[in-house]
Parts: sequence; C-alpha cells; structure tokens
Amino acid sequence: MAATPTVLVIGGGSTGCGIARDLAMRGLDVTLVEQGNLTHGTTGRMHGLLHSGARYAVADQSSARECIAEMRILEDVASHCVEETGGLFVERPEDDEDYFERKLRGCDECDIPAEVLTGREAREREPYLAEDVEKAIAVPDGAVDPFRLCVANAASARNRGARIETHARVTDLIVEAGEVVGAEVEHESGPGKRTHASPGTTERIEADHVVNATGAWAGRIGELAGVDVAVRPSKGVMTVMNVRQVDTVINRCRPKGDADIVVPHETTCILGTTDEEVEDPGDYPEKQWEVDLLIDQLAELLPVLRDARTIRSYWGVRPLYEPPEAGTEDPTDVTRDFFLLDHADRDARPGLTTVVGGKFTTYRLMAEAVSDHVCERLGVSAPCRTADVPLPGSRDERVLDEAMDDFGLTSPVARRSKQRLGDRSAEVLDTEDPNPVVCSCEGVTRAEVQDAVAESGTDLNAVRIRTRASMGNCQGGFCAHAMAQELHPEYDPERAAAALDDLYQERWKGQRHALWGEQLSQAMLTYALHATTMNRGRTVRDDDVDFDAFDGGATGGD
Ligand SMILES: Cc1cc2nc3c(=O)[nH]c(=O)nc-3n(C[C@H](O)[C@H](O)[C@H](O)COP(=O)(O)OP(=O)(O)OC[C@H]3O[C@@H](n4cnc5c(N)ncnc54)[C@H](O)[C@@H]3O)c2cc1C
Repeated sequence: MAATPTVLVIGGGSTGCGIARDLAMRGLDVTLVEQGNLTHGTTGRMHGLLHSGARYAVADQSSARECIAEMRILEDVASHCVEETGGLFVERPEDDEDYFERKLRGCDECDIPAEVLTGREAREREPYLAEDVEKAIAVPDGAVDPFRLCVANAASARNRGARIETHARVTDLIVEAGEVVGAEVEHESGPGKRTHASPGTTERIEADHVVNATGAWAGRIGELAGVDVAVRPSKGVMTVMNVRQVDTVINRCRPKGDADIVVPHETTCILGTTDEEVEDPGDYPEKQWEVDLLIDQLAELLPVLRDARTIRSYWGVRPLYEPPEAGTEDPTDVTRDFFLLDHADRDARPGLTTVVGGKFTTYRLMAEAVSDHVCERLGVSAPCRTADVPLPGSRDERVLDEAMDDFGLTSPVARRSKQRLGDRSAEVLDTEDPNPVVCSCEGVTRAEVQDAVAESGTDLNAVRIRTRASMGNCQGGFCAHAMAQELHPEYDPERAAAALDDLYQERWKGQRHALWGEQLSQAMLTYALHATTMNRGRTVRDDDVDFDAFDGGATGGD
C-alpha cells in the first residue's frame, strides 16, 4: 500500500460524490470516475424533495429519524443548495382519518415538528389547494438542488486533492489473487475536461480499495468482480410545470400511492411520482399515460394543475436493494434504507465495497458509513467531518448582499445568481468584461456560464447543471446557441456545434412528453429558430414541416 492509501470511487451521483469528499477530507488519495456528467444517473433525475422524515414517520421510523437529522445538517453545511419551503401533508375527504392521526403521532415519536392546520389555514398558506382539502399537517420538508449539491461535493473533494473524472466509464475491474486492485476506464475524450470531437483513451487505475457507488447499475459493476449485487431498479416519472403553483412541498396524506407529491423547485414545480420495477436501469419505456396519471391525481389536490403548462417530464430509477431472502414483491414495499456490502466478508472478494439503496436526503450519512468502513479496512483513523465543514458556496447572506451591489447585478438576476453561487458569487461575478444575461428564464449571466465552461470543457450539459441555463420555460430555445457561443474562441466551431447538438438532444428528451398547449408552440418556435433560422437542421426545408399543426398556443389547440 502507498504511504497515502488510494481509493477509486465508481459513480458520480450524490453517494459517490459524498464518499469522494468524505475520504478526501480524511486525507486519502481519491479518484472518482463517472461514465457521464456528475448526476448523470438517478441523482440528476429525482424529485428534489429534502425529506423531513414525515413521509416515513408511520412505516419506517428509523429512516424518518435519519432524514430529520440529515436535513438539519444540510441546511447548515449546504444552505445554498436547500430551500426551506416547509411541507404540508393534506387530507381529502376520501382519505383515511386514522392514517392522519398515525402520521401525526409518528412525527412526534421521531421528533419531527408537526402542526395540524384546518383546511382554511392550509389554503391561506397555499391558495391553490382544493376547496375540499379538510386539514393538513405542516412539517419542515424542503427542496434541494441535486446538481448544485453534487457539484459542491465534487469541488470540495477536488480542493482536497481528489481527482474527479467525468465521461470516464469503468469497463472492467482488475482482480489479482482474488482481490480487486483497480479498474479499466474508458475516457470519452481523454482524461480531464471533456472536449467534443476528440478521441477517447483508456486507462488502468490501480487503488488500495474500490467503492462501487453506481446505484441502480451496481449489479453490473458487481458482475465485473464476480459478485452478485441484486439491485431492484424501480422507475418513477416526474413532470415539471412552468411556474411555482405552490411554494410549499405538498404531500397527500395517505399510506402509499402514486402521484402524491408536488415540490416547488427554483422557478418551477415538480410533480411526482410512480414506482414500477424495471429490468434495465438504462432502458425502460417512458409512457405518456404516466404523465397523465400524475396530472390527474395531483389535480385532486391542486385543481390549477389541470390547465397549467408543463415544460418537460423525466424518469429516474431508484437503486432499491434488499437482502435476497427478503423477497418483497411490490417495489413500493422495498425498504428505502441503504446497504453497505463488504465483499471481503460477504464474497471473499477483498478490495471492493458496494453501497446501494438509500435516498438523496441521507447521501451524507451513507457516505460517512462507507468512508468509515473503507478507513477501517485501510487502517486510517481520521474522523468524518462532513457534518461540520460547509460545502463550497454555502452562503453567508451579508457577504452576498454586499457582493451583489458591487457587481451591479439587479434583482431578480442578483437574487438568482446569489442563490446558485452562494459565497462563490464574488469569485465568479467579479469581472472587468461585459456581463450580459445569457439565459433570461433563469437569470444566468455570461460570467457564470464562463465559470462553468472553465470546469466542464465543451460539455454544455455540465454547464447546464451548474448554472441552470436552458432549464427554464423556453428549455434552451432562446439561450442554447448563446451558451455554445461562450465556447468560442477557446474551442473551434466543430466542437461548439457538437456540444450544442448534445444539449439539444438532452433538452428534447424531456420535452417529448409535454407537447401540448403552449409548450407545443414553444417547441415549434425553438425548432423553427434553430433548425431553420440558424440553419442547424441543415437538410430541413420549410415545406417539410406543417408549422400550423404546432400552433396550440394559449387555447390548447389539437
Ligand atoms: C423517481 C425518483 C424520485 C426520487 N425522489 C427523491 C427525493 O425527492 N428525495 C430523496 O431524498 N431521494 C429521492 N430519490 C432517491 C435518490 O434520487 C437516489 O437514492 C439517489 O439519487 C441515488 O444516488 P446514487 O449516487 O446512489 O446513484 P446515482 O445517482 O444513480 O449514481 C450512480 C452513478 O454511477 C454511474 N455509473 C454507472 N455505471 C458506471 C460505470 N460503469 N462507470 C462509471 N460510472 C458508472 C452512473 O452514471 C451514475 O451517475 C428519488 C429517486 C427516484 C427514482
């Protein structure tokens, strides 16, 4: 073993980034490899609810206690990633009264602050709640930005010497004398920042310990080492609305069921979700009826959703796991707890640890448990400090307010930039150059895009998750090309064009399921702007497209 033990973490979701940070803070030499962008897997496709634990207070009280404790920690160390929205568990006339009482008792038993509101009081807080909502329990649920939080963890790890490689896929594990000693990695465009249209390379990375934090894909990595990790991937759909119909997380107060949460998130609301087991976490059907189900069911709580504009839908896959003997049939009954699989003890395959299951809200706790275990295996005694040391950007309001005045950024651009950058605002926005707004839906300025490009090379999707540029109502229609323009002159037109195509593809993927009414008109306008006016479609001729068919507009059209 080297003087400083080396650890390879596979997976750049919340769990992997949390582990990389924790281990790097304990002084280990860490490399993290992720096959796509950070948050490429489930972490970039979740609901954004920072659980107070109230959701689990009846059926799974140990998870509930973990959630409230972790939520408090994240509000402290990652304040720029968290919005303390509060949450309501609302009861409709047909919902079980007894369950409402059990929820209240459960919250009390788990030390989750809970207050009963009448229907009228609940509607005073959230005016769009249905008239027949009878009562509600107010709890401290919040909203979390998974992209920002993951990037902050990776940045913190890197600041402490970790190597973070995105677009780097593990294709094989190296096993010598029965022990896992590293991995073969394929870099999409060479190590370091991603550059489109550049050739890939392969690399052999050796390590004293390998951590498999690949979530729903953990079984695949397990296979490469000859061990069985029976993940039960379960898909769920989420739909993004164009505005915040609510400012509080709205939960339906019932035992379990699909389509029972609305989370206010940045400028939008996200409706969710469903729970259906799938074979392959990377390839499963995405059906329009799933989106319709969300809107129909959640409109029972918030009737305004029936006619509201949706801007995109997306699906994520839970990395559920239970010990093979448990044999639970319904995926909604599979535990949300996490499992640490020590392959040395479990499979006589030392050098490898897998972590599966869990929730985003408890990612830090999962990372602490894995890091404790790895340190113990490697004989390192440094303690975990991630609950105390703030993540990069975690804000100090006073410093930020002064900084915004200095940069001449006016509200709402100032407010939005501040929320995203936290105490990095000065570092990012202090520029002598002109600093126009590049993405007007989300209020992202050129300096912020440039800062993200410096991190991500030509990867505009990585710029997107860092800044939220192209994630607003127009879904990149008015800013995707302006983002690509920021790659010049460092990158040539061929690379900028390839990067723009990638961003188009990613934005289109989520809009396909939301194409009616005003969003259909928006999609057509975007198409007309980019494919024809900007000539990005190349082979498109005006008479190929029936433009009138897309003109749903405010009346909904057909
Ligand atoms: C529909 C849905 C809604 C959810 N909502 C919430 C919520 O509101 N609140 C909450 O707390 N939790 C929520 N969760 C749960 C939460 O999102 C997940 O538990 C968490 O994000 C899992 O993170 P992870 O890092 O373990 O996995 P992932 O984020 O999937 O990370 C694993 C990474 O490994 C990478 N990888 C895979 N194979 C390889 C390879 N060969 N080489 C390199 N990299 C590889 C993948 O690309 C991926 O990025 C939700 C989950 C779903 C599905």
